[in-house]
Amino acid sequence: MAADPGTLFGRAGGKSMIDRFGRTIQYLRLSVTERCTLRCVYCRKEEGFCPKAAELSRNDFFRIAQVCAQLGINRIRLTGGEPLLRRDIVEIVEDLATIPGIEELTMTSNAQMLAENAARLKKAGLTRINISIDSLDAKKYKELTGGELSAVLAGIDEALRVGLLPVKLNMVLIKGVNDEEVDDLIALAKERPLDVRIIELMPMAELGQDRSLVVNNQDLIAARPYLKPVPSRYAGQPSQDFTIDGYLGRVGFISPIYHRFCSTCNRVRVMSDGMLRPCLGNNMEVSLKNALLKSDEDLKAIIRETIVQKPAGHHFETGFESHKSMAEIGG
Ligand code: SAM
Repeated sequence: MAADPGTLFGRAGGKSMIDRFGRTIQYLRLSVTERCTLRCVYCRKEEGFCPKAAELSRNDFFRIAQVCAQLGINRIRLTGGEPLLRRDIVEIVEDLATIPGIEELTMTSNAQMLAENAARLKKAGLTRINISIDSLDAKKYKELTGGELSAVLAGIDEALRVGLLPVKLNMVLIKGVNDEEVDDLIALAKERPLDVRIIELMPMAELGQDRSLVVNNQDLIAARPYLKPVPSRYAGQPSQDFTIDGYLGRVGFISPIYHRFCSTCNRVRVMSDGMLRPCLGNNMEVSLKNALLKSDEDLKAIIRETIVQKPAGHHFETGFESHKSMAEIGG
């Protein structure tokens, strides 16, 4: 049953924000830039990105995060684009790590520049990191992303060394391109605390519109009976998680197409240009830029009103076309 629209119930030390479908919204994805070091085949558009000068400032992100924490957000993930392209990324992490009520501060990165930054990020207060790695073959990785696999591997080593644990590795599968690498990816979870996750291709840019390229994660799970289901590590996590006897890391499947998780979605996104997007798979957005010039109460009011409008779920299966790529929205 749907809750009252916009109901705010008290909870210890603050409030919680419940949308009209009864979902408690606790997770903010903050996209700090649309700029990226890579050109992943399933992600990038070549033009129309928010220029650096139009990106929100370090202080804007701090205010938004602070106000969101007061509204019940307790987890923040920094993403983009590539968050490490922001020159002030360590300072942004430092700021957000001081906000009362934020229990977890994480990042998604392509790890091209992680090896040299992991220690500073950890020291600034980053809790853990997700790393995208779409192939374990250097040549194929280059073809798919334009980047260097060796840099990603160095970034993984350093993230493990400094303790950004568990390090999660994300692979987006494209049928006939990298789907034969699933078991190689899973093998990485054997001897190190690496959680590996296989993600279904979403229709967020041109390539993803071709549904014949989507690999059904449920088929992958069914073909691997040695995967033992375990509860997710974190509330509201979208993945179906598994362990394998003798493995240090876990295996997760994120299946927005064939095992949708909208009914438990607890997240909203704020983009680097100040747009608030309550649902990845719905083009509805509201700008926070004007509200940033006003009081915290005004900012809170617009965030609350927008979150109440969070749609029930995406419509990926019926030809939804995102106006923006994941790099613009923040993956
Ligand atoms: N630059 C960072 C990175 O590469 O991880 C963060 C941004 S990236 C847009 C975040 C995540 O979105 C990545 O794991 C990427 O693989 C995923 N992603 C982008 N487009 C996607 C699509 N069409 N379907 C599924 N996942 C996608």
